Amino acid sequence: MVRNRTPRNRRSSRQDAVVVIGLGRFGRSLALELADEDTEVLGIDENPEVVQLLSGSLTHAVRADSTKEDALRQLAVHEFDRAVVAIGTDLEASILTASLLISFGIENVWAKATSEAHGRILTQLGVQHVVYPEHDMGQRVAHLVRGRMLDYIEFEDDFAMVKTDPPTAILDVPLSSSAVRTRYGITVVAIKRPGEGFTYATPDTVVRADDTVIVAGRTRATERFSELR
Ligand code: ATP
Repeated sequence: MVRNRTPRNRRSSRQDAVVVIGLGRFGRSLALELADEDTEVLGIDENPEVVQLLSGSLTHAVRADSTKEDALRQLAVHEFDRAVVAIGTDLEASILTASLLISFGIENVWAKATSEAHGRILTQLGVQHVVYPEHDMGQRVAHLVRGRMLDYIEFEDDFAMVKTDPPTAILDVPLSSSAVRTRYGITVVAIKRPGEGFTYATPDTVVRADDTVIVAGRTRATERFSELR
């Protein structure tokens, strides 16, 4: 396949813009969040009602079948550096779309997978970032349900950040004295006093009972810390 532009030209034209294909619940929320952060977004969906609904909120919202190469080229999708395939249920459409984006040489393609097999195929096609929203959100909520966490983010390699109420053992003394790192294997990263925003924690920070803290560390250590009373 002959590309219309060199990578340098492509980058200069659409460097910060993102194309989001499939504007269902996942794609829509992603596209709107990007638009909220002032990112130029081209949203594509084959359903005219969906496109109509989002036409005022995204930079461009266009009706097209993303499995058709000509349609994508007409929309200059091949000029983007970042694209998201947010089609899940229609496996064929997801795979065909992803394979076109990869053949365009788009540097960063994200695609939503609804199963492990779906994800494996996307990876084999060359999709750089495969995401599993339902699976990941299920895991995240499980952590919230099990512990006393207020929020939870797990990174790869067994590392997590947790927002939680502080346990009694660390209250009313500087963090350096409560030795949270050696005792609990976590680091208090930030602290929020009632009615105030989050600030970075320092060794001199004194945590009070009605504060909220964000801690980072190995997944199990952060969970154990959030379960302390
Ligand atoms: P969500 O859970 O995010 O709502 P879903 O996986 O249940 O998504 P899908 O049926 O996969 O929903 O479709 C998501 C969106 O992608 C829908 O709005 C649908 O119209 C659109 N879509 C599906 N196939 C194509 C296609 N070939 N071209 C363009 N848009 C498509």
